[in-house]
Parts: sequence; C-alpha cells; structure tokens
Amino acid sequence: MIDIGANLTSKSFRDDLPSVIDRAAAAGVDTLVVTGTSLAGSHAAADLAAQPASAALYATAGIHPHHAVEATGDWLAQLRAVAGRTRVVALGECGLDFNRNYSPQADQIRCFRAQLELAAELRLPVFLHERDAHDTFIAILREHRPSLRDAVVHCFTGARAHLDAYLSLDLHVGITGWICDERRGRDLVALAPAIPARRLMIETDAPYLLPRNMPSPPRDRRNEPAFLRYVLDAVAAARREDPATTAAATTATARAFFAL
Ligand SMILES: [Zn+2]
Repeated sequence: MIDIGANLTSKSFRDDLPSVIDRAAAAGVDTLVVTGTSLAGSHAAADLAAQPASAALYATAGIHPHHAVEATGDWLAQLRAVAGRTRVVALGECGLDFNRNYSPQADQIRCFRAQLELAAELRLPVFLHERDAHDTFIAILREHRPSLRDAVVHCFTGARAHLDAYLSLDLHVGITGWICDERRGRDLVALAPAIPARRLMIETDAPYLLPRNMPSPPRDRRNEPAFLRYVLDAVAAARREDPATTAAATTATARAFFAL
C-alpha cells in the first residue's frame, strides 16, 4: 500500500521516525509520500526522502494555505528549486482553507494560483487541500485544469455536490481516517462507492486523524502510516469490496498518479 499523505517531518515523529517507518513497512505500507507544507518543511521532506529507509520515501513540495502569508519575496523561485529535487513527486500541499483563515484569503488565493502555474510548468501532479472554501477553490481549479497533469483533493470530507464537481474536472480523491469516524464520517461512507477506482487513493495524514476503528488505539492518539490498514478497511467496507481489491486498486492509482 501507498500512504499518499504522511506529515513525517512533524515534531511528533522527532524521537522515533525510523521505527515509525519500519512499522509502516512491516504493516505492508511500503511506500510513503511525505507531505511538504512550507519551504522549510518541503526541504525537510525532500531530505528525508533522500535517505535510505525500510520503506520507499517520496516527498511533495508546496506551501499550505495556512502558510500562504509567509510566501513573500522570491518564494516561488525557492519553491521551484525544492520541487526540482530528487524524489519530489508532486507540488503541494496547496489550496484554500477558509475554516481557520490562518493566512488572509487574498494571500491564500495568490499563493494557490502561483503553485498551480508552477505545477503546470514542471508537469508535476498537485496535492490539494480545501476546507470551507469549495466555491472559490473549484472556480480556480476550473481555470487551471486544462494545463495541469493531475491533481488530488486530499482528505476529502465534502458533500456529494463537491465530489461531483471534482470528478467532473477529472481530479483524484484522497480518503483519510475521517471515514473511520462513526459520526463525522457517515457522509463519506455513503459517497465512497461513487469514486471510480482509477481516481481513488488512501492516506493517513499522520500524525493527525487517528482512525477511530482501531481496536486498541495508541494512548498518545498519534496516527502513523502503519495504521493505513484501518483506512483501507473502512474504505473497502463502504465500497463493499474485499480489502485486497481496494488495496490493489488504490496502490495502482497512486503509482500512476505520482509516476512511481
Ligand atoms: Zn490538508
């Protein structure tokens, strides 16, 4: 299996990252895509991906909407440089987050558009984040879609109309442990069967979103890539598929998406 979204440069993994990667590999998660969310974080993700490990590591390079306010000066040239490093396989995480608004919306929009243009220039797929900003997000994507190779809306938690809009733009959809939440994930369980296998991928978003279907969750509530199995089980159950079928299909889709 491939975890397409793992925040392994998070400080919650500072003390035991090698064992976290070993446990992922032992659990059948043999490929991890480390999410970059800032210039420094993207360099750290690329550094990590360049080191030998028990799982195959790749990285994304991008500025998360929370960090859009930091995108000043020659940030775009700097991001272009990180994106060109070896084992960087996607641009992002980028997008819009009007839920928290940690960065002003005008900065988020400017930073998002510039990254879509960079992805088109570099012919890289895009790792997208959207929260409470669907209308603006889809309008911007609709403009840029013709020049983009591929793009995945990671941690999709939206409504049917949102999913339809994404699929109509031929975007990919990433599902996290949100689907394992018996209350919050109910809508997602209903929507999961509507995503074509060639557009569906799975992710942990570790250390966040610990799957709630774990029989014995870790006491510190930290999520890690080894727990991708629980996301897989919930997605497979929602789609009424055998987990092995879902695993094979999402892995093949991720390999094609990131050109691994
Ligand atoms: Zn995100």
